Amino acid sequence: MAGLVNTVVLITGGSGGLGRVLARAFARQGSRVVITARSEARLTAAGEEIGRAGGQVLALPCDVTERKQVDGLEAAIGARWGAVQILINNAGVARAASFLETTDANWDEILRTNLTGAFYCCKVFLPGMIEAKWGRIINIGSTTSKVGYSHVSAYVSSKHGLLGLTRALALETARFGVTVNAICPGYLDDELTRANAQRMAGKTGKSVEQILDAFASTAPQRRLIDPEEVAGLALLLASEKLGGMTGQAVSVDGGATMA
Ligand code: NDP
Repeated sequence: MAGLVNTVVLITGGSGGLGRVLARAFARQGSRVVITARSEARLTAAGEEIGRAGGQVLALPCDVTERKQVDGLEAAIGARWGAVQILINNAGVARAASFLETTDANWDEILRTNLTGAFYCCKVFLPGMIEAKWGRIINIGSTTSKVGYSHVSAYVSSKHGLLGLTRALALETARFGVTVNAICPGYLDDELTRANAQRMAGKTGKSVEQILDAFASTAPQRRLIDPEEVAGLALLLASEKLGGMTGQAVSVDGGATMA
């Protein structure tokens, strides 16, 4: 896609799942891709895979819940490639528990990763975008950014919060050439969804296929979402083509939510 060649893209949580698919997609466009996550082994493996395919990639460990580490990340990227132009806040964790079973520690972990982590990254990388009068922030929300779900109150709260941050920041950045949008995927067809289905199958006595079918039937299209579909939208949001779109929450969920 024109305009993405050599742009510096930071993808948090880029070592696995959706983040890795996003990283591959931007690398294929010729972007300079920085991936970050906590576990160094998975991160290195993801970076090597992109590098072998001819992509420009930096794999830099960082826990987005630690402000000092995010500052250090900015310094490391700055020294190699300069300012980040496209930030994708993708790092996220999810834990299922009823509200009363949600421990303080679970609540803190989920809010710190999914919401505060995005806040830290925006704080640290937005000034460079404002200075350049161009930037893109893409927050990976979820259908849970828009509607409530049972047994995931901390996750739903974090993803609603992320959408609030998206909208408020879009207003404050609108005159600086920076767009801020959220992508809200439904159940992704990936390892995490399969692992969750496996866990639920163990608990309920149903088969993994039955659980996956139940996930798929939450969407009118009755299917899971291919992470490549989310990556396709991220590329568009990052490009000049959608420069006029800001403060939006775009669902890629087979019609599950229409808010
Ligand atoms: P995965 O668990 O597969 O990957 C999560 C990534 O985030 C990993 O790279 C992980 O690496 C990283 N990560 C977690 N915590 C931190 C942290 N504190 N600092 C830096 N990196 C971190 O998740 P998915 O790919 O499934 O999810 C990606 C995003 O998509 C999340 O925001 C999720 O909420 C959202 N989403 C997912 C859906 C799904 O069905 N899977 C549906 C809708 C939205 P490490 O653990 O090494 O740090």
